[in-house]
Amino acid sequence: MKQAVMTAPGEIQFREIEKPTPREGEVVIQPRRIGVCGSDIHVYHGLHPYTGYPIVQGHEVGGVVAEVGEGVTGLEPGDRITFMPQVTCGECYPCRHGMAHICESLRVMGFQTNGAGQEYFVLPAASVLKLPESMSLDEAAMVEPVSVAVHALARAGGAAGKRVLVLGAGTIGNLTAQVARASGAAQVMITDISPYKLEKARECGLDIAINPAQESLEEAIRTYFGPDRADLILECVGVEATVTDAIRLARKGTTIVVVGVFGKKPQVDLGLVQDRELSLVGSLMYQKADYEQAIALIAGGRMSLSNMITHRFPFDRYPDAYRAIEESGGRYLKVMIALD
Ligand SMILES: [Zn+2]
Ligand SMILES: [Zn+2]
Repeated sequence: MKQAVMTAPGEIQFREIEKPTPREGEVVIQPRRIGVCGSDIHVYHGLHPYTGYPIVQGHEVGGVVAEVGEGVTGLEPGDRITFMPQVTCGECYPCRHGMAHICESLRVMGFQTNGAGQEYFVLPAASVLKLPESMSLDEAAMVEPVSVAVHALARAGGAAGKRVLVLGAGTIGNLTAQVARASGAAQVMITDISPYKLEKARECGLDIAINPAQESLEEAIRTYFGPDRADLILECVGVEATVTDAIRLARKGTTIVVVGVFGKKPQVDLGLVQDRELSLVGSLMYQKADYEQAIALIAGGRMSLSNMITHRFPFDRYPDAYRAIEESGGRYLKVMIALD
């Protein structure tokens, strides 16, 4: 079988290896859709601080079960599935307290251990979630990023009844705004300096899409949300300017969830965090309950995902997916690799 290996930054080679067989408690899956995301691109550029080479990427996956090992229950060949890419130790404090997603020695498939960029992929059955047959393979591959959004909102006690401001309209920002809407937010505003990403957000039905480079975000917040402004702010970019905006524009006593991944250390005004009694909350990946909620939202038709898939490549053009993102000038959201 074929495997797509990133041998060095910017280098993806196909390697012929033996098809895996499942050991006890393991499942062999056939990945059918693999989403490529911003973190993958950091690896492609050699800018991911915690990833070495060679590495097989692929952590956003929709697929089917090919073979199950001994002792595996609830999964059968042909079942539609996705998986959680976290590999955890099971022994550290977070692992022992139901927070394995922040395991002290967390490894993520596609980054610190091989991912699903191959025709067959073996992994522990416990990481695999069975999906409704009605869910498309594209949707199945979107469960992972939707779960990031679900977890981010859960970190702030959910969005129900709140006026929610999402800074950043990339894939995670867009999905966070959509999950906020689907879980009963009173109003949702999304921002970006990219007109392309704002247009994609509007295509997904996120009507209050603001470009802070063209109009005052402070005024837009008052116009749409009224004098009480935002109840909850989520930073989904990971740069100094947006986290500074979040702190500057937050109403006293509110929560800011930091979802964006920072390439550079930001300088922020913690004096305002203290003086305005703000809560700055970090959010990393997801737990199983977030996956289950993401699956329910997608299966229930509550998410607009098809508009978000901007590029599509067959498996044998895997390297082109990365190149397309590189050459897009930021005009992309989800790039999908198809294996069928
Ligand atoms: Zn991703
Ligand atoms: Zn652990």
